[in-house]
Amino acid sequence: MGLADRIAESAAKRTKPDTYCAYQIMYNSLTAENKKALDDAWVKGYSANIVIMALRAEGIKSSNESIRAHRKGLCRCPKK
Ligand SMILES: [Zn+2]
Repeated sequence: MGLADRIAESAAKRTKPDTYCAYQIMYNSLTAENKKALDDAWVKGYSANIVIMALRAEGIKSSNESIRAHRKGLCRCPKK
């Protein structure tokens, strides 16, 4: 593979996940069941700390910052 191809390939890999913030990428990777559980948690008014602890227990990484930014619409997700 030539250098130009390598650069094009890594650029393609980089730009895709950057479209969404860390929270949305994590959310997109969840099963339909877990997405619903997460949506329900916010509807019920659970705090980010409670949700993060549950996510971690399930082996899913997330952070307070990414959750807060996403929920306040301060993240880089395209649709607000
Ligand atoms: Zn976001």
